[in-house]
Amino acid sequence: MTDSLRFFIERFEELRKQPPEPGRYYQPRAYRNAAVRFRAHTAHNCEQAKNFFNLSACPLHSVSARLELVGKTGLNPFLYPAHLLPGCDLLSDSGTTTMTMEQWAQLLLGDEAYGSNEGFYELNEQIGMTFGDGWRQDLNRDEQTLFIFHQGRAAEHALFYNLARMLAGRDVPVLSRVIQGLPDPTGVFTRLQREIERLRRRSGVEPRFLIPSNGHFDTTEANIADCNIIPLNLNCKEHRANDEQFPFRGNINLDELSELLNWIPQHIPLVYLTITNNSGGGQPVALENIRVVRQLTAKHRIPFFFDACRFAENAWFIRARESGYGDRTVPEIVREMFSYVDGFHISLKKDGLVNIGGALLIRPDGLFTRLPDYRQLLTRLTDYQILTEGHPTYGGLAGRDLKAIAEGLRMVVREEYLRTRIEQVRRFARQLETFGIPVLKPAGGHAVYFDIDRFFSGLAVRDRDYPGIALVALLLVAGHRLCELGVYAFELEDVPPPRNNFVRAAVPRLTYEDQDLFACAEAVRTVYEHRERIPKVEVLYGAGLPLRHFKSRFRFLPE
Ligand SMILES: *Cc1c(COP(=O)(O)O)cnc(C)c1O
Repeated sequence: MTDSLRFFIERFEELRKQPPEPGRYYQPRAYRNAAVRFRAHTAHNCEQAKNFFNLSACPLHSVSARLELVGKTGLNPFLYPAHLLPGCDLLSDSGTTTMTMEQWAQLLLGDEAYGSNEGFYELNEQIGMTFGDGWRQDLNRDEQTLFIFHQGRAAEHALFYNLARMLAGRDVPVLSRVIQGLPDPTGVFTRLQREIERLRRRSGVEPRFLIPSNGHFDTTEANIADCNIIPLNLNCKEHRANDEQFPFRGNINLDELSELLNWIPQHIPLVYLTITNNSGGGQPVALENIRVVRQLTAKHRIPFFFDACRFAENAWFIRARESGYGDRTVPEIVREMFSYVDGFHISLKKDGLVNIGGALLIRPDGLFTRLPDYRQLLTRLTDYQILTEGHPTYGGLAGRDLKAIAEGLRMVVREEYLRTRIEQVRRFARQLETFGIPVLKPAGGHAVYFDIDRFFSGLAVRDRDYPGIALVALLLVAGHRLCELGVYAFELEDVPPPRNNFVRAAVPRLTYEDQDLFACAEAVRTVYEHRERIPKVEVLYGAGLPLRHFKSRFRFLPE
């Protein structure tokens, strides 16, 4: 090799190792586009939009027409038509994934036989490879342990509905009686008492059971409460710290969990960890935390479950941040994480990298199948699926979907995918931070969360002016769709800060480029710099309904 060639090789090597810096790119994306979708700026779409909603102009091209449409859809992003957004759709990272060419190819190869089709066997194999050999459905076993569903919450509903029926036969006293007079050094029983009263007010029933978690997702929480079981969140102490120093703010509070397990284990049918902790800002859970929860639950013979929607992102954070895991691969870390639990459910619309799908898995050699009263749940779950979703081997999905999921689970743990994903979300968060906008730090895996209490601090804004709702509505007018997960979604009107009062920008997988996200950041900056002018909002419909943020309608108050 000549000196000059050696010279250039060294320079290119240096470029390859260059750390990221604002405004410059040294690494190309790990993928290139194989299909693109223009945002339908055609005359036909514009005419149709104007006619459907009776607007003066097309909302794709006219900001004032967008304001009209935002008004007509009740300032609720769930009701705003997605195809009439000229900007980023950051309402959810669920089912919004751009699939790979390999996944599209799998769709064409789908086997549309009724149940036990080719896709089921491929998916079963891949589940063993991704989560560990022990998770496969044993094809020679009488009972089903792998249940496919059309999405995550259907799996949750099946589990909790059937669990509640099993618990109905358990002879234990009501919770409010048992916890009376217990020592309460952590305050967890005081909090439990409040939740008991809340559930009693809602349903008129005296609850006897609770399911603790590091942070239940909103539909999980609603599904559990609907069965008159208390969903109790045990956030770790660092949960609210807004600081890069706390790498695992998704952890469960182990002191509080120990108190509950020591005093009232017979009232706890399951213990949960949500990985990553979605409601708490997409923050990861450490393997150390997972291991200790396993030890505590094993001692009391209580099954331990994951809500596993973002398992691969969580594993990435463990590798990047937890001591002792830097030289392990993500697939190894995933298998270790799942070796500690007795079961999990997952919305495959997240780290399954697909547009639809979910699953419930029970570990064939885990605690769940070894405890007699739980074991009968397996047959109940199969019966339930036959009544509602078809058969556990397809769970309301087409055969082609199963194949796309198998391919998604193969891809999602790969280094080049996860690096692309996590670093893009971080760049978006950093860009917002350079504009002075209060975002949760460090950024989570799938979304950037704006802290609404800090966003409006120093201004005379009341909770019942719903500033988070107003911010989301204004950004819709700017052309970007985000979501309020704060005072309105969680009914926090009487809860003083610090609290989870967020607006969330969830980033779809493999869908946007930095240019798109940075354009959204500019819109947020514009609103932030003039935040004292953000109008107040009033609720027109739905304030008293459960899960109200999906259904409510609002309007901007006149000045
Ligand atoms: C999305 C999600 C669910 C529910 O899954 P769906 O597929 O939307 O029904 C449950 N838990 C968590 C943590 C989620 O993010």
